[in-house]
Amino acid sequence: MTDLEQRRREELAAALARVRGRITTACAAAGRDPAEVRLLPVTKTFPARDVALLVDLGLFDTAEARDAEAAAKVAEVIELRPAAAVRWHMVGRVQRNKCPSVARWAAHVQSVDSPRLVEALQRAVRSAREAGRRQGTLGVLIQASLDGDPARGGCTLTELEALADRVAAASQLRLEGVMGVAPLGIDPGDAFAQLAVAAQRLRRSYPGAVEMSAGMSGDLEQAITHGSTCVRVGTALLGGRPLTSR
Ligand SMILES: *Cc1c(COP(=O)(O)O)cnc(C)c1O
Repeated sequence: MTDLEQRRREELAAALARVRGRITTACAAAGRDPAEVRLLPVTKTFPARDVALLVDLGLFDTAEARDAEAAAKVAEVIELRPAAAVRWHMVGRVQRNKCPSVARWAAHVQSVDSPRLVEALQRAVRSAREAGRRQGTLGVLIQASLDGDPARGGCTLTELEALADRVAAASQLRLEGVMGVAPLGIDPGDAFAQLAVAAQRLRRSYPGAVEMSAGMSGDLEQAITHGSTCVRVGTALLGGRPLTSR
Protein backbone atom coordinates (compact mmCIF):
# COMPACT_ATOMS: atom_id res chain seq x y z
CA MET A 1 0.00 0.00 0.00
CA THR A 2 1.34 3.43 -0.93
CA ASP A 3 1.71 6.23 1.64
CA LEU A 4 -1.17 8.02 0.02
CA GLU A 5 -3.40 4.97 0.29
CA GLN A 6 -2.33 4.41 3.88
CA ARG A 7 -3.26 7.99 4.72
CA ARG A 8 -6.64 7.67 2.98
CA ARG A 9 -7.31 4.45 4.87
CA GLU A 10 -6.63 6.20 8.17
CA GLU A 11 -8.85 9.09 7.15
CA LEU A 12 -11.71 6.74 6.29
CA ALA A 13 -11.21 4.73 9.49
CA ALA A 14 -11.42 7.91 11.58
CA ALA A 15 -14.54 9.10 9.73
CA LEU A 16 -16.10 5.67 10.12
CA ALA A 17 -15.49 5.77 13.87
CA ARG A 18 -17.13 9.20 14.06
CA VAL A 19 -20.18 8.11 12.07
CA ARG A 20 -20.55 4.93 14.12
CA GLY A 21 -20.31 7.08 17.26
CA ARG A 22 -23.13 9.30 16.00
CA ILE A 23 -25.27 6.24 15.25
CA THR A 24 -24.60 4.77 18.70
CA THR A 25 -25.43 8.05 20.43
CA ALA A 26 -28.62 8.53 18.42
CA CYS A 27 -29.70 4.96 19.15
CA ALA A 28 -29.05 5.40 22.86
CA ALA A 29 -31.14 8.60 22.87
CA ALA A 30 -33.97 6.80 21.04
CA GLY A 31 -33.76 3.65 23.18
CA ARG A 32 -32.84 1.59 20.15
CA ASP A 33 -30.30 -1.18 19.58
CA PRO A 34 -27.53 0.06 17.21
CA ALA A 35 -27.64 -3.37 15.54
CA GLU A 36 -31.02 -2.32 14.07
CA VAL A 37 -29.44 0.50 12.06
CA ARG A 38 -27.23 -0.37 9.11
CA LEU A 39 -24.64 2.05 7.82
CA LEU A 40 -24.71 2.21 4.03
CA PRO A 41 -21.79 4.18 2.55
CA VAL A 42 -22.69 6.24 -0.52
CA THR A 43 -19.59 6.27 -2.70
CA LYS A 44 -20.86 8.27 -5.69
CA THR A 45 -18.15 10.53 -7.16
CA PHE A 46 -15.49 8.69 -5.13
CA PRO A 47 -13.09 6.23 -6.78
CA ALA A 48 -13.16 2.44 -6.67
CA ARG A 49 -10.03 2.61 -4.48
CA ASP A 50 -12.16 4.15 -1.72
CA VAL A 51 -14.72 1.35 -2.00
CA ALA A 52 -11.83 -1.14 -1.69
CA LEU A 53 -10.56 0.62 1.45
CA LEU A 54 -14.08 0.56 2.95
CA VAL A 55 -14.18 -3.18 2.25
CA ASP A 56 -10.89 -3.50 4.14
CA LEU A 57 -12.58 -1.69 7.03
CA GLY A 58 -15.38 -4.26 7.04
CA LEU A 59 -18.04 -2.43 5.01
CA PHE A 60 -19.31 -4.82 2.34
CA ASP A 61 -22.33 -2.78 1.27
CA THR A 62 -22.03 0.36 -0.81
CA ALA A 63 -24.44 2.64 -2.63
CA GLU A 64 -24.28 4.53 -5.89
CA ALA A 65 -26.60 7.05 -7.51
CA ARG A 66 -25.83 6.80 -11.24
CA ASP A 67 -25.78 3.70 -13.40
CA ALA A 68 -22.85 4.53 -15.67
CA GLU A 69 -20.56 5.50 -12.82
CA ALA A 70 -21.58 2.47 -10.77
CA ALA A 71 -21.21 -0.09 -13.56
CA ALA A 72 -17.61 1.01 -14.19
CA LYS A 73 -16.79 1.12 -10.47
CA VAL A 74 -18.18 -2.35 -9.82
CA ALA A 75 -15.79 -3.76 -12.43
CA GLU A 76 -12.83 -1.90 -10.89
CA VAL A 77 -13.65 -3.06 -7.37
CA ILE A 78 -13.76 -6.67 -8.59
CA GLU A 79 -10.20 -6.19 -9.90
CA LEU A 80 -9.04 -4.50 -6.68
CA ARG A 81 -10.68 -6.96 -4.25
CA PRO A 82 -11.51 -10.12 -6.22
CA ALA A 83 -12.39 -12.15 -3.14
CA ALA A 84 -14.75 -9.61 -1.57
CA ALA A 85 -18.48 -10.11 -2.06
CA VAL A 86 -19.52 -6.46 -2.20
CA ARG A 87 -23.26 -5.76 -2.30
CA TRP A 88 -24.16 -2.74 -4.42
CA HIS A 89 -27.25 -0.63 -3.79
CA MET A 90 -28.76 1.83 -6.25
CA VAL A 91 -30.13 4.91 -4.48
CA GLY A 92 -30.45 7.38 -7.38
CA ARG A 93 -33.08 7.85 -10.03
CA VAL A 94 -33.23 4.97 -12.49
CA GLN A 95 -34.12 5.63 -16.11
CA ARG A 96 -35.98 2.73 -17.61
CA ASN A 97 -33.43 2.26 -20.40
CA LYS A 98 -30.75 1.76 -17.72
CA CYS A 99 -32.57 -1.14 -16.06
CA PRO A 100 -30.71 -3.85 -18.03
CA SER A 101 -27.41 -2.47 -16.74
CA VAL A 102 -28.65 -1.90 -13.18
CA ALA A 103 -29.95 -5.48 -13.10
CA ARG A 104 -26.41 -6.72 -13.70
CA TRP A 105 -24.70 -4.92 -10.81
CA ALA A 106 -27.27 -3.94 -8.18
CA ALA A 107 -28.31 -6.27 -5.38
CA HIS A 108 -30.91 -3.73 -4.22
CA VAL A 109 -32.61 -0.69 -5.72
CA GLN A 110 -33.86 1.78 -3.10
CA SER A 111 -35.31 4.31 -5.53
CA VAL A 112 -38.28 2.58 -7.14
CA ASP A 113 -41.06 5.08 -7.59
CA SER A 114 -43.32 4.17 -10.52
CA PRO A 115 -45.24 1.20 -11.95
CA ARG A 116 -43.33 1.52 -15.24
CA LEU A 117 -40.03 1.25 -13.41
CA VAL A 118 -41.29 -1.85 -11.58
CA GLU A 119 -42.16 -3.48 -14.92
CA ALA A 120 -38.82 -2.50 -16.48
CA LEU A 121 -36.84 -3.89 -13.54
CA GLN A 122 -38.85 -7.09 -13.52
CA ARG A 123 -38.05 -7.65 -17.20
CA ALA A 124 -34.40 -6.65 -16.84
CA VAL A 125 -33.76 -8.92 -13.86
CA ARG A 126 -35.37 -11.86 -15.61
CA SER A 127 -33.23 -11.29 -18.75
CA ALA A 128 -30.05 -10.84 -16.72
CA ARG A 129 -30.70 -14.10 -14.84
CA GLU A 130 -31.51 -15.99 -18.03
CA ALA A 131 -28.28 -14.70 -19.57
CA GLY A 132 -26.28 -15.77 -16.49
CA ARG A 133 -25.39 -12.15 -15.70
CA ARG A 134 -27.10 -12.14 -12.34
CA GLN A 135 -27.91 -14.46 -9.47
CA GLY A 136 -31.10 -14.07 -7.48
CA THR A 137 -33.94 -11.62 -7.28
CA LEU A 138 -33.60 -7.86 -6.79
CA GLY A 139 -34.31 -6.27 -3.42
CA VAL A 140 -36.56 -3.24 -3.83
CA LEU A 141 -37.35 -0.27 -1.63
CA ILE A 142 -40.05 2.12 -2.67
CA GLN A 143 -38.92 5.72 -2.60
CA ALA A 144 -41.53 8.03 -1.14
CA SER A 145 -41.54 11.71 -1.90
CA LEU A 146 -41.69 13.56 1.43
CA ASP A 147 -42.52 17.00 0.10
CA GLY A 148 -45.35 16.10 -2.25
CA ASP A 149 -43.14 16.97 -5.23
CA PRO A 150 -42.52 13.70 -7.10
CA ALA A 151 -40.62 15.63 -9.80
CA ARG A 152 -37.55 15.14 -7.62
CA GLY A 153 -38.00 11.42 -7.24
CA GLY A 154 -40.28 9.32 -5.14
CA CYS A 155 -43.95 8.45 -5.37
CA THR A 156 -46.56 10.22 -3.29
CA LEU A 157 -47.52 8.63 0.01
CA THR A 158 -50.97 7.86 -1.42
CA GLU A 159 -49.44 5.94 -4.35
CA LEU A 160 -47.12 3.92 -2.18
CA GLU A 161 -49.41 1.06 -1.24
CA ALA A 162 -50.46 0.33 -4.84
CA LEU A 163 -46.84 0.41 -5.96
CA ALA A 164 -45.92 -1.99 -3.15
CA ASP A 165 -48.60 -4.40 -4.40
CA ARG A 166 -46.99 -4.34 -7.84
CA VAL A 167 -43.51 -5.02 -6.47
CA ALA A 168 -44.84 -7.82 -4.28
CA ALA A 169 -46.50 -9.39 -7.33
CA ALA A 170 -43.31 -9.23 -9.44
CA SER A 171 -41.56 -12.61 -9.37
CA GLN A 172 -38.06 -11.17 -9.88
CA LEU A 173 -38.38 -8.48 -7.17
CA ARG A 174 -38.44 -8.65 -3.37
CA LEU A 175 -40.26 -5.90 -1.52
CA GLU A 176 -37.98 -4.80 1.32
CA GLY A 177 -39.41 -1.48 2.54
CA VAL A 178 -39.35 2.25 1.93
CA MET A 179 -36.76 4.94 1.34
CA GLY A 180 -36.98 8.69 1.70
CA VAL A 181 -34.86 11.82 1.42
CA ALA A 182 -35.73 14.77 3.66
CA PRO A 183 -36.46 17.70 1.34
CA LEU A 184 -34.53 20.94 1.76
CA GLY A 185 -36.40 23.55 3.72
CA ILE A 186 -38.48 21.07 5.71
CA ASP A 187 -37.66 19.89 9.23
CA PRO A 188 -36.15 16.42 8.62
CA GLY A 189 -37.87 15.15 11.76
CA ASP A 190 -41.27 16.00 10.25
CA ALA A 191 -40.34 14.36 6.95
CA PHE A 192 -39.08 11.17 8.65
CA ALA A 193 -42.17 11.02 10.87
CA GLN A 194 -44.28 10.86 7.68
CA LEU A 195 -42.05 8.17 6.24
CA ALA A 196 -42.28 6.17 9.47
CA VAL A 197 -46.08 6.12 9.24
CA ALA A 198 -45.84 4.84 5.67
CA ALA A 199 -43.24 2.23 6.69
CA GLN A 200 -45.46 0.93 9.50
CA ARG A 201 -48.50 0.75 7.25
CA LEU A 202 -46.50 -1.19 4.67
CA ARG A 203 -45.27 -3.65 7.31
CA ARG A 204 -48.86 -4.44 8.25
CA SER A 205 -49.57 -5.52 4.66
CA TYR A 206 -46.13 -7.03 4.03
CA PRO A 207 -44.41 -8.20 7.22
CA GLY A 208 -41.18 -8.85 5.32
CA ALA A 209 -40.89 -5.24 4.19
CA VAL A 210 -38.99 -4.16 7.29
CA GLU A 211 -36.60 -1.57 5.91
CA MET A 212 -36.93 2.15 6.42
CA SER A 213 -33.97 3.75 4.64
CA ALA A 214 -33.72 7.29 5.95
CA GLY A 215 -31.03 9.67 7.08
CA MET A 216 -27.89 11.00 5.42
CA SER A 217 -24.79 12.79 6.69
CA GLY A 218 -26.72 15.83 7.91
CA ASP A 219 -29.82 14.25 9.40
CA LEU A 220 -29.08 10.68 10.44
CA GLU A 221 -29.90 11.43 14.09
CA GLN A 222 -33.46 12.56 13.27
CA ALA A 223 -33.91 9.53 11.02
CA ILE A 224 -32.82 7.14 13.76
CA THR A 225 -35.22 8.83 16.20
CA HIS A 226 -38.04 8.03 13.77
CA GLY A 227 -37.09 4.41 13.22
CA SER A 228 -34.62 4.33 10.33
CA THR A 229 -33.09 0.90 9.73
CA CYS A 230 -30.53 2.13 7.16
CA VAL A 231 -28.65 5.42 7.07
CA ARG A 232 -27.06 6.35 3.73
CA VAL A 233 -23.90 8.29 4.42
CA GLY A 234 -21.69 9.97 1.85
CA THR A 235 -19.88 13.14 2.86
CA ALA A 236 -19.54 12.37 6.58
CA LEU A 237 -17.64 9.23 5.63
CA LEU A 238 -15.81 10.10 2.43
CA GLY A 239 -15.52 13.89 2.47
CA GLY A 240 -17.00 16.63 0.32
CA ARG A 241 -18.25 16.12 -3.21
CA PRO A 242 -18.33 18.72 -5.95
CA LEU A 243 -21.70 20.48 -5.56
CA THR A 244 -22.90 19.55 -9.05
CA SER A 245 -22.92 15.86 -8.22
CA ARG A 246 -25.93 16.01 -5.92
C1 LIG B 1 -25.77 11.23 -2.16
C2 LIG B 1 -26.88 10.56 -1.47
C3 LIG B 1 -26.80 10.25 -0.10
C4 LIG B 1 -25.62 10.63 0.77
O1 LIG B 1 -25.65 12.01 1.03
P1 LIG B 1 -24.65 12.69 2.09
O2 LIG B 1 -25.34 13.94 2.45
O3 LIG B 1 -23.37 12.92 1.36
O4 LIG B 1 -24.48 11.78 3.22
C5 LIG B 1 -27.87 9.58 0.46
N1 LIG B 1 -28.95 9.21 -0.26
C6 LIG B 1 -29.06 9.49 -1.57
C7 LIG B 1 -30.29 9.06 -2.29
C8 LIG B 1 -28.04 10.18 -2.21
O5 LIG B 1 -28.15 10.46 -3.51
